[in-house]
Amino acid sequence: MHGPPVSRPPRPGTGTLYFSAIMKDADMGSQARSESIPGPNYVYWGGRSLYVNLTSRCSSACVFCLREWTWNVYGYDLRLAPAQEPTAEDVITALEYAFLDGMPDEVVFTGLGEPTLRLDEILALLDWLRTRRLRTRLDTNGQAGLLHPGRDVAGELAAAGLGAASVSLNASDPVTYDRVCRPLFAHAFRAVTRFIRAAVQAGIEVTATVVAVPQVDVEAARALAAELGAAFRVRPLITVDAGASVRGGSDR
Ligand code: SF4
Repeated sequence: MHGPPVSRPPRPGTGTLYFSAIMKDADMGSQARSESIPGPNYVYWGGRSLYVNLTSRCSSACVFCLREWTWNVYGYDLRLAPAQEPTAEDVITALEYAFLDGMPDEVVFTGLGEPTLRLDEILALLDWLRTRRLRTRLDTNGQAGLLHPGRDVAGELAAAGLGAASVSLNASDPVTYDRVCRPLFAHAFRAVTRFIRAAVQAGIEVTATVVAVPQVDVEAARALAAELGAAFRVRPLITVDAGASVRGGSDR
């Protein structure tokens, strides 16, 4: 997990209002009221990492998804309506302002949605970040092969300079995967394992993750990750009781 939330003045693309406010999520009820920097937030700090928020859309509906109860991560409201999704230029502007506060150790494509739905923006941003010699990571549900049929997504990401990927494996078999992740696509688990293998082969440093929910056989998933050539990490299940502001991105 990452370091503690960092309090910084909002910059363009990191909150349009220059003050923190009390956010009330209509879906959350009074229990989940929390302070957050109002959106749209295209980049947000967490510890010494800078996170990029490209979309709130996703091709899964995981049973443990934070979006079930909060949009507040590191104190930022990450919700983006489709019309609010940033262009690569919007993100570059927000990154340039964020860099005024210091250079991050890492730039991470994550948020509370599936970043590879905005694949072309990620590729453009990787190209821009590469010239600044910044370490980059993608947090993904691994379904890019289904979202972009006919494209070699792992190869394109590697060619654009992606250093690392954290991929939500979330199960050791397709039946459990469908039950836990509730993907829009059939055969999504097969696509995830293919993506992991392709990313490893393309030279990306890949970590397969699972969220510790009772349905998942963690040791079987660990063995599968090893077979695919990836590192492995178990992420704790975060619940509404754990606090209204959480760290990082969705489940990755
Ligand atoms: S946990 Fe991640 S992959 Fe699952 S629904 Fe939420 S954003 Fe999508």
